[in-house]
Amino acid sequence: MKVAVLGATGAVGQRFVQMLHKHPWFEISVLTGKASVGKKYGEAVNWRIESPLPEDVAEIEVQPTDLSSLKGVDLIFSALPSSEAKVIEPEIMKANIPLVSNASALRMEPLVPLIIPDVNPDHLALIEVQRAEGLGPAATDPNCTTTMAVLPMKPLHDKYRVRKVNVCSYQALSGAGYPGVPSYDIVDNLIPYIPSEEEKLVRESRKLLGKFNGETVEMANFQVQATCVRVPVLDGHLVALHLEFDEEVDVDEAKRALSNYVSEPQRMGLPTAPERPIVVREEPNRPQPRYDRWAGEGMSVTVGRVRKGSSKDSLLLLTLGHNTVRGAAGQAILLAELMRAKGYI
Ligand code: NAP
Repeated sequence: MKVAVLGATGAVGQRFVQMLHKHPWFEISVLTGKASVGKKYGEAVNWRIESPLPEDVAEIEVQPTDLSSLKGVDLIFSALPSSEAKVIEPEIMKANIPLVSNASALRMEPLVPLIIPDVNPDHLALIEVQRAEGLGPAATDPNCTTTMAVLPMKPLHDKYRVRKVNVCSYQALSGAGYPGVPSYDIVDNLIPYIPSEEEKLVRESRKLLGKFNGETVEMANFQVQATCVRVPVLDGHLVALHLEFDEEVDVDEAKRALSNYVSEPQRMGLPTAPERPIVVREEPNRPQPRYDRWAGEGMSVTVGRVRKGSSKDSLLLLTLGHNTVRGAAGQAILLAELMRAKGYI
């Protein structure tokens, strides 16, 4: 399938380019941007990925982000700033070009599924409702910190029913895009506020773990409170979770539920699916961004310090994942694979 990447020069756009190059199903055909329009991608991009920029992609000329640039593509990945996504993504839905977006613009729209492929693949059936309205197919993946929190919540929610969640995040610099936070502000420092992040965690986690009733997604009714902090780490968001459940929790049983968890992407053997979506570490000083962000080629989250909270129905743990891979481009690619495997595109 010929694919377009919107916002291709950004932190997430670059990760898309790296992961799509040599993908068995998808071939990069169009790259779009704003300041870089008309330049070759290799000249426009400030490449900040660990592996070299593929030579053939470097030669592609960056196009404007509008419908006329997208004629003839089979699938669109969006890594646009949300303000731009708000304008173009509804137009793409109306034009019926398959869309998978990383931006927050459409995530809470009732007609648009918000998906972590290994958490709520059944919500993709919302695309049938879009179809009936002559729209889509379009799907979104959540905010990066929400992904790190909700993936390990899923098997625990299935088992014990989450009632309340306290989230504290330690978020990497690449989560703010490129060039992101000025070095003068973040070296020797932490920033205890990330605009809109806490609100996204609250609403997106309730949609992801909600129930699709055939017409719409009923939000899960647990309470969520969050504090999000930017830290001087390049890649990898670390998230501390304090979970309260309806039922009493057994720590060893909870760890087994986490490490044995697999879902549709694993059963279908999708190309970007990690063998284990959740890796559980026993060492008291893990997970750490530097050592654990590449677990499962960046597609697994690593959970550690699983322990009892202050009451028998509560659990504490830390979870970590690569924010531009599992938290953005990698997850969007896995979502597109799932949509294709299920016949939605
Ligand atoms: P970024 O590094 O700031 O990149 C933004 C990209 O959008 C650039 O390629 C830029 O192209 C393009 N762009 C800017 N204004 C535009 C406009 N008016 N029209 C068309 N293109 C425009 O941002 P990012 O971190 O990659 O984030 C992209 C999206 O993914 C955001 O919605 C963000 O919230 C979401 N997201 C990010 C992460 C993460 O870890 N970074 C995780 C999950 C979701 P030019 O260079 O050509 O101007």
